[in-house]
This record gives sequence, C-alpha cells and structure tokens, in this order.
Amino acid sequence: MRHDHPELDVTELREEVHGQELAIGLTEQPDWNGRFSCDFCGATLWPHTPLQMDAIRNHDMDTLDRLFGPLEGWWIDSVRCPDCVVDRIHPPTDGWEEALVLCSTTERNGVLSVDTTDLSVLDYSPGPAGHYPPVIPLDTVSQMGLSFSRWSFLYRYLPLIEATVPDIGERQPLYQYCRDRLNEIERETTA
Ligand SMILES: [Zn+2]
Repeated sequence: MRHDHPELDVTELREEVHGQELAIGLTEQPDWNGRFSCDFCGATLWPHTPLQMDAIRNHDMDTLDRLFGPLEGWWIDSVRCPDCVVDRIHPPTDGWEEALVLCSTTERNGVLSVDTTDLSVLDYSPGPAGHYPPVIPLDTVSQMGLSFSRWSFLYRYLPLIEATVPDIGERQPLYQYCRDRLNEIERETTA
C-alpha cells in the first residue's frame, strides 16, 4: 500500500514486528476475553479483524535502556479498540520513531501474535520529530510501561483517566504535570 513517508522502511518494520506476541489465551479454544484488551481503555479486543496498533522504535531514549535492556528494532507498543482509534500520531514524541499501523493478528497454540502480511501504515513520525518526551519517573515507566514516555499515548490515555477519576489532578501531581504539558503542546501546535 502506498503511504506518504518515504523515509520509513516499511519492509523492515513489517519483518521486525511480525510474530510479536500480543496475548496468551487458553491452549485449546482460546477465549481472549480479558486476555487481549485495548491498551488505552481496557476494552476486550477480538482478534478477528485488523486492528490499529502503535509501533515504536527507540531513537535516543538511552535512559530507558537501563530499565528495559537495549531497545532495538521496531515493536508494537499498544493496540487500540474501535473507540480509541486515531487518524494521526498526535502529538509526536522526540526520542521515539512512531508508526500508526493497521495490522492483523494470528492465533497459534493459544498464542496471539502480530501478522504483518496486510500491514498498512496510517501515519509516521521520525525519531527526532515532535516534542521532548514527558518527564516520567523511571519507576513509573517500569511499572506502567514504555507507552508512558510517549505524548500520543498520554494524549489519548489522560482523558480516559479524567473521565473515571474526576479529581485526579488534585491527587496526582504526575498526572497534573502531564495534563499541563499536553495543554501547552496543544496551544503551541494550534498557535
Ligand atoms: Zn479503547
């Protein structure tokens, strides 16, 4: 499929994320309920249609290497349910190469993995493009995952938290920092 990002090697992306494990179900007759869910809202996903996923590759986030080991190549950072899909990477994070893709999954022996045979790229952001990464304590990143070091993840995730915990800003300084910075980015990008 054609896309508008000639600097992205789609073949390399395809090869590197193909076969990556997404979830483990029951060995016989996998029941994915509760085992395969949206990384933003937690909704159960059914692995029978292509799904929107965020693929990422480390550009210069060296501090994260210490937590997660060398971050090499492309991998799937998050999977989106139909309610959480987006049409572009916004806001992009300086430090991550990010690709928004539409991609299938495959089940074998109770393991659900990425199948890139029909992968298409919806949007792409080069490593040094975008806004400096959110300042998240490393222990939070280690608990919550790499997604928390990307603005486009937080952009979708924070409103879902706000909807479920109305006074989160008073209770969580980290949340308030991210919300304030996102508002700033929003003002910068619409100015
Ligand atoms: Zn969702």
